[in-house]
Amino acid sequence: MPPCVCYAVLALWSNAWTTAGRYQKSEPCVLCGGGLGLGGSGGDDLSHIGTCSHVQAFFLRKLRIELRESKNLFFLFPGIDGDLICRWAIGIYAVYSHLNLCRHDPDESDNGNLEVAVTKMWGHCRIASLFSQCARVTLHKIWADIAVED
Ligand SMILES: [Zn+2]
Repeated sequence: MPPCVCYAVLALWSNAWTTAGRYQKSEPCVLCGGGLGLGGSGGDDLSHIGTCSHVQAFFLRKLRIELRESKNLFFLFPGIDGDLICRWAIGIYAVYSHLNLCRHDPDESDNGNLEVAVTKMWGHCRIASLFSQCARVTLHKIWADIAVED
């Protein structure tokens, strides 16, 4: 896996994603605009991101991973299947990158549009695949439009 993908996963596990919830603030989700009022935490919080409708749609449509099967699937390795772990890690990187981009450049925000969010997160997957043959091969298995080349 590319270092950027490994970092995104380790940062997730270390609660190092820069969310409003991490700073004890309650703000709406950067992606879907929702999530406020859930157990006192805001939508911009790791507790929401794993269940965010935009994140779930992205994982299902582009990575063929059904996050709704388990509440903790977003946060933990999804099993011992190598391809599945690879897709999951790339998905984590894509969500992490897209959230950061939305926070730092409002022009990159998808303004709550699910289709735009899924497309932009898929773009981050493609970027990750540029740096890893393993990622390219894995994504190519599910999406033929990813070029597999050295
Ligand atoms: Zn959300």
